[in-house]
Amino acid sequence: MASKVWLAQFDDEETDESIVRKAGEVFEKAGMAGVAQDGKSCAVKTHFGEPGDDSHVPPHFIQPFLDRLKEAGSKPVFVETSTLYKGQRANAVDHFHTAVEHGFGYENTGCPVTFVDGMQGNYHVEVEVGLKHFDTVAVAGDFPLIPSVLVVSHLTGHELGGVGGAIKNVAMGLTSRSGKMRQHDAGKPHVDEGECIACGTCARWCPVSAIEVPDMAQIDFETCIACGECLAVCPVDAIDFEWSENADNFSEQMAEYAYGILQDKESAAGFITFIHHTTQECNCPGKEMDRICPDLGILASYDPVAIDQAAVDLVNESAGKDVFQTMWPNTSYTGQLAHGERIGLGSREYELIRI
Ligand code: SF4
Ligand code: SF4
Repeated sequence: MASKVWLAQFDDEETDESIVRKAGEVFEKAGMAGVAQDGKSCAVKTHFGEPGDDSHVPPHFIQPFLDRLKEAGSKPVFVETSTLYKGQRANAVDHFHTAVEHGFGYENTGCPVTFVDGMQGNYHVEVEVGLKHFDTVAVAGDFPLIPSVLVVSHLTGHELGGVGGAIKNVAMGLTSRSGKMRQHDAGKPHVDEGECIACGTCARWCPVSAIEVPDMAQIDFETCIACGECLAVCPVDAIDFEWSENADNFSEQMAEYAYGILQDKESAAGFITFIHHTTQECNCPGKEMDRICPDLGILASYDPVAIDQAAVDLVNESAGKDVFQTMWPNTSYTGQLAHGERIGLGSREYELIRI
């Protein structure tokens, strides 16, 4: 059955004031306040941006959603998780500073910020899914405690998934470091001999005692379960991982993670996607990037597959070609959509309602 996707259209000339107004309108037309539950928290999942990037959804575009969620009686709270890679979002404290620097602090939005995978990005609960790639998925530990979620995404290309929209925002953004590694098919860690200062921190944190530190960290690969803890806690960034570049698996694995993460939310999950300053890569590299298409507007839906499908269709229609497949020829963005539909995450069929 076709899912409904609402579109508030705008273009490159749109003022911020107008975009904010249209954000509120599309939220209302799509009935997104339906995710709000009286007196209860509502998670608002977005990307706070890497230092140096200018392409995440800025807080003033999200403010109309926060205001309306409050008016509907819920208590919105920004939720995020630590990144797999090193940088200014790799743990809750650094990530919080980044969020505040980008205007997401309470003093600006009236909305608290919490990191649902703990201080170091290693807190999760296993949720059974029984799917093609995974029997269980690692859901960020505190996320199941929040009864509803509004996922606010910035559409981008992606070097492994082809496209990054609502599915990727959920799959990568609401899991622990271990879950991110599983989706990337990360191999075992390696220690940079020149960097290790033999402090022993990694050995103390390793959950399976796979590390010994005589004069530098040595990892027993038979015992290692590739959880990523050591990468997170090393104070001098001496540990790294090789990530798989199997794009087909990656896309399907993201769909399975999104499915597992949203499993208990049912009709309490809404999705809003901005096709605004859309770039070839996701927001994570932390650099200014060229736009790949004109600004096209804001989409809203209760279906993460339908909203991603509608977003790529709008971009491709505006360009008269398959922009994402052309940009990333070794990926298949349709994999995450097709697998998402197969496993019941949502529908690729949609009815586009222009407001
Ligand atoms: S990845 Fe996890 S299991 Fe492997 S050595 Fe590091 S902390 Fe231990
Ligand atoms: S935490 Fe880092 S520096 Fe310390 S022993 Fe482990 S690898 Fe070496």
